[in-house]
Amino acid sequence: MRARLTAGACAGLLLGACTGGGPAPAASSVPATGSVRAATSSVRATNSVPSASAIANPSPTAVGPRSPNPSPTAPQPKFVRQQLRIGTSRQGRPITALHIGDPRLPAVLVVGCIHGSETAGVAVTDALAALPAERLRTVNLWVVGLANPDGASRGTRVNSGGVDLNRNFPAHWQPIGSRGDLQYSGPTAASEPETVAMVDLLRTVRPAVGIWFHQALALVDTSEGPAVAEDALADALSLPETALTDYPGSAIGFENSLVPRSAFAVELPAGRLSATAVKAAVGAIVTLRPVPATSAAR
Ligand SMILES: [Zn+2]
Repeated sequence: MRARLTAGACAGLLLGACTGGGPAPAASSVPATGSVRAATSSVRATNSVPSASAIANPSPTAVGPRSPNPSPTAPQPKFVRQQLRIGTSRQGRPITALHIGDPRLPAVLVVGCIHGSETAGVAVTDALAALPAERLRTVNLWVVGLANPDGASRGTRVNSGGVDLNRNFPAHWQPIGSRGDLQYSGPTAASEPETVAMVDLLRTVRPAVGIWFHQALALVDTSEGPAVAEDALADALSLPETALTDYPGSAIGFENSLVPRSAFAVELPAGRLSATAVKAAVGAIVTLRPVPATSAAR
């Protein structure tokens, strides 16, 4: 059932802090250590900085099965697995995106963590990154584990400059709060390098679906995204669907300004996801069959 929520949303929106404006509870402020460390170590292993054209036209690193006598006109399966450095945090941590699947298909973006105190979604992005190629031949995934690596390392919602990245995107940006506030939107739109990295990625990829994990409202936001994908994640995670009220400078607001009705927030419960929940979320994501971004609106 879909309902409209008007206060207390994290990703979304009115009172902003995911737990109603106050500090996150201990259970959700403690990073899922193994996942975060694994993601961070894989991030640090990456040192290439691709150009925009390299992101848009990645080199295949593996090719799908070939028939013994392929038709010269039949399109061959294509599979890429490429980790790209898309930016650098204020404290110098790489921000990376893993591109996996068939790049000819409509793109699905999955962001595990943008509020550093909400790291449960990193278990899902780690699991996606670990899937074998045969599970990924019918998708075109862009996976960002940590969009706010400094915040994740410190266990804070904001980045190391004290800015709520989810209020810093250049769509309907407004001054909100001041340094030290949980929802400080920064001195200007896209003032933070982490925001710039995601803006550049979004402008290049233009995902047909964007899934942004947050905590800890335990719901799927249905205010702006594609209904089929929202329903799939809600069903997989047994979460209710609720329309959050959008907030100036949010990431999903910016993505939806580029590709209407493409992005939505999945507010996970507090604490870590169970292995069963991770598996269910991964299954829902890899079976999404989005239409191309140019016709993504419902
Ligand atoms: Zn959040």
